[in-house]
Amino acid sequence: MQVPFLDLSATYKELKSELDEVYFRVMTKGHYIMGDELSRFESEFAKYCGAKYCVGVSNGLDALVLLLKAYGIQPGDEVIVPSNTFIATWLAVSSVGAIPVSVAPKADSFNIDPAKISAAITPKTKAVMPVHLYGIPCDMDEINKIAKQYSLVVIEDAAQAQGANYKGKYAGNLGDAAAFSFYPGKNLGAYGDAGSITTNDPVIYEKVLALRNYGSVEKYVHKVQGHNFRLDELQAGFLRVRLAHLSAWNKKREDIAKKYTESFKGLEVKVPVLAADVHSSWHLFVVQTNRREELRSFLQQKGITTLIHYPIPPAKQEAYADKESFIETESYDSSQLLSLPIGPQMSAEMVAAVIAGVKSFYNKI
Ligand SMILES: *Cc1c(COP(=O)(O)O)cnc(C)c1O
Repeated sequence: MQVPFLDLSATYKELKSELDEVYFRVMTKGHYIMGDELSRFESEFAKYCGAKYCVGVSNGLDALVLLLKAYGIQPGDEVIVPSNTFIATWLAVSSVGAIPVSVAPKADSFNIDPAKISAAITPKTKAVMPVHLYGIPCDMDEINKIAKQYSLVVIEDAAQAQGANYKGKYAGNLGDAAAFSFYPGKNLGAYGDAGSITTNDPVIYEKVLALRNYGSVEKYVHKVQGHNFRLDELQAGFLRVRLAHLSAWNKKREDIAKKYTESFKGLEVKVPVLAADVHSSWHLFVVQTNRREELRSFLQQKGITTLIHYPIPPAKQEAYADKESFIETESYDSSQLLSLPIGPQMSAEMVAAVIAGVKSFYNKI
């Protein structure tokens, strides 16, 4: 049986009539930028996250950049980021001229270690950007406590965490502000590029509103040098349709994660372990094994596609060849990571095939 890592067209097949309806509605109305679909999506997504404000923007990277600018992060400032994140987190910091300070995850976790954050703080540190990697919420109580102590801004990179929950609160409402990506493969994905910010802070909200639209809130009046980082009506409309299914889809992901976890007990493969009061959005299901390459090719021979998130950490990328451009407190080794297929459109047969594949690799059955 073929198990693709992700089948992006599956959501369109499932929601075709609703999505087609958006297309015809927006096309017929003739209002393609900054209209009703966007403002409705913004209030619906803010409500979903439990945040006061949401601003739809062009993509996740731009969302992070807008927040750093809104908080006044300047060239030479230091911003604490995880060593094992997708490079966008670092690129956002670099693009405003600030210095990414890379901090490693806690042992037995994929998320940034609060104790190591404290150790990395200098007088230049202005912000910390915890990433809820793979959908697992960071240790936000600890991070917020440290941030308060040192007057740092907490910007969540929630690109992988739509619907993730930490002690009863959703990602997007766990720091000072959050950035989301709605890249097609994310839990809440558009059919093109899209993103948003959420915050409870009215000042930051107003700043981001202006910065995403040429520095303007009133047409042809430009208060700051802004960007064109807008989210269009078609994508906003599609996102509204998918948002209504997000909780149910995340529940399906959680069910698959539980099945994997149960089934791999006793095997020499480590599965993610979460605290009792935390729910991952299960954007990815990442296992750790010292036989990664062997397991990967064994599964591929059975038709099961796996991926590695991420094969090369940002600090080892050519983009960061200039060692002055970032500060590394500890290097990160991703050689044991393997992401198994997980997603709401996976059939029970596909899930069973992944489980059987992993079991037969370890048990030789
Ligand atoms: C996807 C992603 C981003 C960037 O989002 P884009 O919409 O692709 O710009 C940023 N951070 C993390 C952790 C991501 O996974």
